[in-house]
Amino acid sequence: MKILLVAVNAKYIHSNLAVYSLKANCGKWESQVELMEYSINQYPEDILQSLYKKQADIVCFSCYIWNIQMIEQVAEWLKMVAPGIQIWLGGPEVSFDVKERLEKWSFVDGIMYGEGESTFGDLMACWNNTTDAEAIDGIGHRHSDGTVDIHPPRDFVDMSLLNFVYTRPEDFENKIIYYETSRGCPFQCSYCLSSVEKQVRFRDTELVKEELQQFIDWGIPQVKFVDRTFNCRREHSMEILHYIKEHDRGKTNFHFEITADLLTEEELVFMAGLRPGLIQLEIGVQSTNPETLKAIRRHVSFEKLSEIVRRIHQSKNIHQHLDLIAGLPFEGLERFKQSFNDVYDLKPEQFQLGFLKVLKGSYMREMAEEYGLIYRPEPPYEVLATNWLSYEDILALKAVEDMVEVYYNSRQFENSLEWLEKYFSSAFDMYEALADYYEKEGLKEISHSRMSRYKIFLDFAGQYLNQENQSVFRQLLTYDLYLRENVKSRPEWAASQDMYKSAYVEFFRKDESRGKYFEGYEAYTTKQIQRMTHVEHFNVDIPAIIRGEAGSRKSVYLWFDYLHRDPLTWRSQTIEVTIDEIDEERES
Ligand code: SF4
Repeated sequence: MKILLVAVNAKYIHSNLAVYSLKANCGKWESQVELMEYSINQYPEDILQSLYKKQADIVCFSCYIWNIQMIEQVAEWLKMVAPGIQIWLGGPEVSFDVKERLEKWSFVDGIMYGEGESTFGDLMACWNNTTDAEAIDGIGHRHSDGTVDIHPPRDFVDMSLLNFVYTRPEDFENKIIYYETSRGCPFQCSYCLSSVEKQVRFRDTELVKEELQQFIDWGIPQVKFVDRTFNCRREHSMEILHYIKEHDRGKTNFHFEITADLLTEEELVFMAGLRPGLIQLEIGVQSTNPETLKAIRRHVSFEKLSEIVRRIHQSKNIHQHLDLIAGLPFEGLERFKQSFNDVYDLKPEQFQLGFLKVLKGSYMREMAEEYGLIYRPEPPYEVLATNWLSYEDILALKAVEDMVEVYYNSRQFENSLEWLEKYFSSAFDMYEALADYYEKEGLKEISHSRMSRYKIFLDFAGQYLNQENQSVFRQLLTYDLYLRENVKSRPEWAASQDMYKSAYVEFFRKDESRGKYFEGYEAYTTKQIQRMTHVEHFNVDIPAIIRGEAGSRKSVYLWFDYLHRDPLTWRSQTIEVTIDEIDEERES
């Protein structure tokens, strides 16, 4: 008997925790199960070929909104070329319309709905002829006469009885590890499927600690907790955070989705003391409009949330990722702009502007008619218009989202963006103008290199700045550019540094520089240090401008030290240095 558990991930670096958990928890049949992971960026024909060649008896697909269309295609083709193979589906995308789907998709033999571990274990027993399919809860299946039968739902699994999924760290090199210590969510957000599952269950924290120790020992770069609201039970989350802090070896980063306004003073003080980069937090804001928050059943005070986000921000040790959702009830374009500006003002490290997905089984879908929700009928069921937003508004927001991704979330334009913002009435207006510029200049559909994004941004800003400020902006862009990377080919728009070359050579050569600046470079020669780092002359007071001050100096030299980067932002360290032997006349 050969059974394949198939995952089709959204990106190559992702992995699918569900299929690993099914395999790890199917008991004595585990050796019959093989995991196959693909990504949606592959051709369906290639996935079909790969699965066909496996000559399996049963192929089970893990289904989500992002992969269901590809799975439909591949599974149907597989059944056509190998009718003897049984096709089974599982996952959230097929758990809420089991009967309809089985009736519609004749190439599917059965569906596991709800949590899969125990169900899959029972199915393995059934496929090995030691139990009867009719006795298995949590499935829908097709009989040989074509009729469809839906069995009762299964009780929740005890999370502490599940086996640890990760035994071979070498399988996860260059991949993000997903891990869970709880299932379900106590909250009721109307657009979310986790709110459907009322009961929240936790894995025993002693087991969790043992497993975390494995990740720490293996030096896994990032572990993402998939717990829906990690901090919904304080004792549980704090015990885990304390463990992580005490056993940290400086390599692993842990990512958590939290509800910020649940954090207490004690937790905030504790978090402020964590190693920079040890944890990162994802916080759903979704909207700052009280009427919208009430309608979507999120009883969150934006005031309290922002106070907490600002507190965390002050300690400069935790990356925060804030989310907003466009297309929610009672939020038109103008009100959404305010939500955008409110969240942008909190300066998160990542700002994700998402669009409402009207998911099957969610309360939002029940309310779709009342809210005038028009959404794509096929996955991912993304909103196209609402009573408050036209499709044109949605398109405008999509264009803004693209600009936020490219310019804000890339973190490559941090200081230039912040400085330019004051020429617009709000951050949203700046991104909207930038999106319009892309549209007008025919830049939208083209894939641009990182370097050309800088040039586009410079040209865009030029429309709003006088000559003097264009020069300031150009230098801020240069600063942003070198802050991330010691670029090998200097862009033509950056001011020439040729006239300082000999002074720079002298700076790297001097014993004084070694003693004063080059800490950590003891093993490198002067030439190597010069190659590994960068010096830039600015004819404006860049450090003051970045601090938001006017600044009065006309000449500043900054040394970009890439060996010492900020662990949180990955920005290089910059040090103001003294450079001698500059011919002032040549400089002007
Ligand atoms: S959106 Fe988050 S907090 Fe709300 S129900 Fe879903 S998982 Fe829970």
